[in-house]
Amino acid sequence: MKIGFIGLGIMGKPMVKNLLKAGHQVVAYDVLKENIDYVVTAGASASVSSKAVAGECDLIITMLPNGPQVREVVCGKDGVLEGAKSGTILVDMSSIAPGVAQEVSKECAKKGVKMLDAPVSGGEPKAIDGSLSIMVGGEKAVFDQVRDVLLNMGASAVLCGDIGAGNTTKLANQIIVAINIAAVSEAFTFSTKAGVDPNKVLDAIKGGLAGSTVMNAKVPMMIEGNINPGFKIDLHIKDLHNALDTGHDVGIALPFTAQIMEIFQTLRADGMGQSDHSAIAKYYEKLTGTKI
Ligand code: NAD
Repeated sequence: MKIGFIGLGIMGKPMVKNLLKAGHQVVAYDVLKENIDYVVTAGASASVSSKAVAGECDLIITMLPNGPQVREVVCGKDGVLEGAKSGTILVDMSSIAPGVAQEVSKECAKKGVKMLDAPVSGGEPKAIDGSLSIMVGGEKAVFDQVRDVLLNMGASAVLCGDIGAGNTTKLANQIIVAINIAAVSEAFTFSTKAGVDPNKVLDAIKGGLAGSTVMNAKVPMMIEGNINPGFKIDLHIKDLHNALDTGHDVGIALPFTAQIMEIFQTLRADGMGQSDHSAIAKYYEKLTGTKI
């Protein structure tokens, strides 16, 4: 199949490679020429705009930073909707606010373009090995048409509900991850300060009820003092903004999420916006005068 792909960053590049590996033709576009060059070397063909991508492809995937970029790429000048034919399918795999996915989908419908929101979990390593978890919102008939293509990039693709449901699910994921990192940071500064080796604490509790994927992945980084990303604090701040806004829109409070947001803001003010989100441990280390 000929697939248009727009947004060739940390995630987009390996996702394109996996589509090529599965035998698809990929027409690629990004505002950064070096990112286009990278995927062209891997076998994709280059395009000059989102509009031009849409002119050539019946299926278009976007993998962009946030809602404003998705709006611009889809609805803006030289955007997807200027070039797309009726019947085109747009799968936005960026992590954005569910409300923005719904608004963009309405604009798509005016041109006969069907949209799914399909954000991912798993980060760069799972984008590289093609084992992302993909959470989808939209019509089942459209999902059924693209499911196999999604599974060229992911280990699972679950239809969670109508348009926006994919991003609501992704925000739930991001809330859990953020609070879980804070919980292990608090527990490991506590146990270290009280005199127990963090390696022993990890070994002893990781198989029990407190164990988690976050604990397995992030506590070794905390012990090493490694804050190389991974998933950057700036991106997690973006997701928690979207979670808090969406929570307030539906009329509920998110007290822990709000607290972790302020911890992330503190770390960003301290110059760690580009560090891994596990740097929450640094906040606790400063607070307690204890190195995990
Ligand atoms: P990134 O910043 O590395 O890549 C985004 C790409 O979009 C860049 O190459 C940028 O040049 C391009 N872009 C921006 N505006 C554009 C425009 N108007 N037209 C064309 N291209 C444009 O981001 P990423 O890490 O690849 O993340 C993409 C999305 O996936 C984000 O929503 C992020 O939250 C989500 N995500 C990231 C990770 C991760 O670990 N990096 C994990 C899960 C989900």
